[in-house]
Amino acid sequence: MSFYYNELEKLKETHSYRQIPDIEEKNDKFVIVDGRKLINLSSNDYLNLSTNEELAKEFINYVEDSPQFQFSSASARLLSGTTRVYRELETVLAKQFHKDAALIFNTGYQCNLGVISTLARKGDIVFSDKLNHASIIDGMKLSDADFKRYKHLDYDNLEELLKKYRGQYKNAIIVSESVFSMDGDIADIRKLVELKKKYDALLMIDEAHAFCSIDDNCAGMSDGFDVDIITATFGKALGSFGAFAVSNKTIINYLINKARSFIFSTAIPPINIAWTKWLLTEKKDVIEHQKHKLARITIATHKYLKSLDIDTVSDSHIIPVVIGDDGKTVEVAEQLKSMGYFVLPIRPPTVPKNTSRLRLSLTADIDFDDIRKVIDYLKNEI
Ligand code: PLP
Repeated sequence: MSFYYNELEKLKETHSYRQIPDIEEKNDKFVIVDGRKLINLSSNDYLNLSTNEELAKEFINYVEDSPQFQFSSASARLLSGTTRVYRELETVLAKQFHKDAALIFNTGYQCNLGVISTLARKGDIVFSDKLNHASIIDGMKLSDADFKRYKHLDYDNLEELLKKYRGQYKNAIIVSESVFSMDGDIADIRKLVELKKKYDALLMIDEAHAFCSIDDNCAGMSDGFDVDIITATFGKALGSFGAFAVSNKTIINYLINKARSFIFSTAIPPINIAWTKWLLTEKKDVIEHQKHKLARITIATHKYLKSLDIDTVSDSHIIPVVIGDDGKTVEVAEQLKSMGYFVLPIRPPTVPKNTSRLRLSLTADIDFDDIRKVIDYLKNEI
């Protein structure tokens, strides 16, 4: 017992101790914490759909007399957990991504974990961007394949590794996010496709932060490219819950048969699947409207950063402000809280050592004035 206690004490000493924030309430662009209404700049609800009351009421009216008005599937997908609405949503997704088939997983974490650990087998190798999400790393660790991590967005380094190792393995998979979760920079999918073809590998792209935020028609940034497997989550821009993979029929059927994180888990409640499907099919106009607003605020923010000579690696609505020191990052976040802004400090192991940061997460309904105030304050702290 004392081992765990001592480890926690060490985390506290190094300002790395994590606690679940006590959020009393969330609505629109706000969170209520300690009785105070703060502007939420730590949300992945990029289109502000998840707390949109009007939308939720409209959906309840639509769904309440339907067979999907159920709050549990009470079973795994391969038992009695798959009702028709799952199939309908999978058909919508496959069509939207111009792929043969789709498979819904319970979360993006379970999806990446399942896809990678299942497709990468003994005698295979995975090449992964160094800043890929924990779910991708854990998928590689869980698989029987070997893996190599290439320097972030460094495709020369990826090619060096491919040259050196590809020939020693049966199959190879290259994995990258499209929009990176902590840096907001964007992979060169064209280059990745070129390399996967040259070295006979499969290419998997995780679209978690691009899906329905900065892509076209909610088809991901890989749309139009020869990407073999695409994964994404419903839990961010779409304001829902769950995740999916799209690919060819063989890969999807292989996952259905072999992916343990798909097989051995109770399926998402039907009402939630219905909500996701309703948004993607009946509320395209709302999604497009919010996407335009997000694009406008993103452009304005990048322009403002440039005008102040503040460098950022970001090319998107996710904007990291790297402070470096863990303690200082926590202090700056506290100061922002006292100014009325909820911006959580992001520390290792979520990001590499000495790159602790505030991750400004822009959402469609945020006012630019607020972003400006936050940036003006941060300018003096970096
Ligand atoms: N992939 C990336 C890049 C993410 O940032 C996340 C989010 O946490 C996930 C996957 C996991 O998605 P989910 O939250 O649905 O488990």
